[in-house]
Amino acid sequence: AARLSIADTAVADAIDNETVRQRDSIELIASENFVSQAVLDAQGSVLTNKYAEGYPHRRYYGGCANVDVVEDLAIGRVNQLFGSTYANVQAHSGSQANQSVFLALLNPGDTILGLDLRAGGHLTHGAPVNMSGRWFNVASYGVDPDNHLIDMDQVAELTRHHRPKLLIAGGSAYPRVMDFARFREIADEVGAILLVDMAHFAGLVAGGVYPSPVPFAHVVTSTTHKTLRGPRGGFVLTNHAEIATKINSATFPGLQGGPLMHVIAAKAVAFGEALQPSFTTYARSVVENCRALAQALTDGGLTITSGGTDSHLAVVDLRPFGVTGNIAEKALESVGITLNKNAIPNDPEKPMITSGIRVGSAAGTSRGFGADDYREIATLMLDTLEAVRGGTLDSHREEINAHVRQLVSRFPLPY
Ligand code: PLP
Repeated sequence: AARLSIADTAVADAIDNETVRQRDSIELIASENFVSQAVLDAQGSVLTNKYAEGYPHRRYYGGCANVDVVEDLAIGRVNQLFGSTYANVQAHSGSQANQSVFLALLNPGDTILGLDLRAGGHLTHGAPVNMSGRWFNVASYGVDPDNHLIDMDQVAELTRHHRPKLLIAGGSAYPRVMDFARFREIADEVGAILLVDMAHFAGLVAGGVYPSPVPFAHVVTSTTHKTLRGPRGGFVLTNHAEIATKINSATFPGLQGGPLMHVIAAKAVAFGEALQPSFTTYARSVVENCRALAQALTDGGLTITSGGTDSHLAVVDLRPFGVTGNIAEKALESVGITLNKNAIPNDPEKPMITSGIRVGSAAGTSRGFGADDYREIATLMLDTLEAVRGGTLDSHREEINAHVRQLVSRFPLPY
């Protein structure tokens, strides 16, 4: 019964090195977070050994009494958290949660309308390289070229024109609140189904600082690992019994075999944490911190698309500094600040280059960073980008990295 550190040093060393990387760097990737030790414990448990095809109390395997308890807890807690009636917590990922909606409610060749990838949408909302783009007839709405907000009149117009079977709201790089009531009104006009993919902002909805899509959408999908601070995974919510039945069949046996019971246990733990009053405080801080970071970057001469943020993420237009997203991403990583390059609305650069970066506050806020720390992070980012612009990063890298390490050392991770 050797522990990993003895049984397999190659893997153990890589995990140790990753622990150090997470500890010693500033995490600004908007889709990441730091889970609690309790979530890690559940995910690293013996539940990984168990096959449990089917649903609680209706399984295709024996020995499922304990995992039934776990899945019932996850379903009950997520419904309580979001005020929904039906939940499926088996999706292995956010992408599979969306696929289950497509399989349950659409046929190949049907029309879907979602936010364009280049305007902040997600691959699974109809990108040509994704299954959603290959199997469906895809139409996309964008954002207003001036204010970078979703233009609901354009959404209405495109919906009337294309008459999609499925209208999708939600995205991966849209920093503002969305008008779910208006989306539903527009969907109803043509009898479309409204899907809200709340993968990014689910934790903010749970914490009461972002509008809930649940009263408006026919079906809601999400990941568990972003602002919601759970294990990697997905889930689907609905208030409609007939949709719930179809989602269950589409998830299993439609798309998946055995559910990942260890991950579902970790989801249950994360949902339990999000039901605590402290999670509301966390969600509020996430938004305040992102606003502090965005404002400090603006004060330093950068441009924030849409002029700010209502959420945990902001998209920074780097053009005032004459630096592209790919160069900024690499330079910032070299000083210990991790984030990703990101297209800005109507980006003139190619997707592998981009004119922007995406920043997020969900992970750092879990560590304990406050608004002052995010202002300090903005200064470190501006110093780095200034050095890139002046060609002096090599002589400044050590000094900036020392500052990064000094900052993160004030906020130890629990692992
Ligand atoms: N939907 C949205 C809006 C996302 O941002 C993401 C993740 O990037 C997904 C779905 C897919 O989640 P996963 O990476 O778990 O497949």
